[in-house]
Amino acid sequence: MEFTVTIYDLHTHSLVSDGILSPAALVSRAKLQGVDVLALTDHDSVAGLTQARAEAAAQDLGFISGIELSCQWGKGGVHIVGLNIDPENPVLLAGIERQAKARQLRGELIAEKLRKIGIEGALAGALKIADGAVLGRPHFAEYLIESGKVKTFKMAFKKYLGAGKPGDVKNLWPDMPEAISWIKAAGGVAVLAHPDKYKMTRTKQRALVADFANAGGEALEVISGKQNTGVADYLVRLANQFYLHASCGSDFHKPDHVWQELGAFGTMPADSNPVWQLWAPQ
Ligand code: MN
Ligand code: MN
Ligand code: MN
Repeated sequence: MEFTVTIYDLHTHSLVSDGILSPAALVSRAKLQGVDVLALTDHDSVAGLTQARAEAAAQDLGFISGIELSCQWGKGGVHIVGLNIDPENPVLLAGIERQAKARQLRGELIAEKLRKIGIEGALAGALKIADGAVLGRPHFAEYLIESGKVKTFKMAFKKYLGAGKPGDVKNLWPDMPEAISWIKAAGGVAVLAHPDKYKMTRTKQRALVADFANAGGEALEVISGKQNTGVADYLVRLANQFYLHASCGSDFHKPDHVWQELGAFGTMPADSNPVWQLWAPQ
């Protein structure tokens, strides 16, 4: 009997947020890389889903509608991926609208702070660079490079945009239970994205997972791109302790980030309960 593994990549970005491929080009690349089921999960946006779904149908690739929502947990930000959502759900759409307003307001506050230290036109500059995509600090960083204030992206954050720097503005995101509730209202599964990338102690990470599960979250992203040995096994144990399913994705943004290549992150540990059990035909 032939044995085949279905490759799921359930966390990817297009140019609708901070990726560089169009939704259709993302689907083509996923197909080329051997992905069987793809979820597009742009930051705080569902704008790429129609195009991606149509292209996936044309290329006979499995497709899951998704999103990645920014939210607040304690003093820090965390990301919640929503999978298998209804992109037209009014509660979710109102949430997305609120995220856009939070980003716009944050952008205005960053620009105001930069103006106070003599950097003019940052908002207009960042918006121009974003070119209709979801506005974020990377666009301000690019503006700072363009206007000759710094030479690199890294320096833009180190000198101006990072924590405690002159352009540092607190995030204005909703709290985690609220973000989860939008996903659930849209019929989706809430997944705690890349739990190992928040620079927390394991004690704090465990508290985050406990809060996430209590708020109705259903899965942990145990694989996020190419990661160190042992991370997935540890996260699966954590997921199992809280009766959470397990998800996996590349967090693909651009082709030259080889550690985030579509579908290229190994298989799910055997003792996990993959998130797709929640929607696969029984
Ligand atoms: Mn991103
Ligand atoms: Mn993220
Ligand atoms: Mn992401």
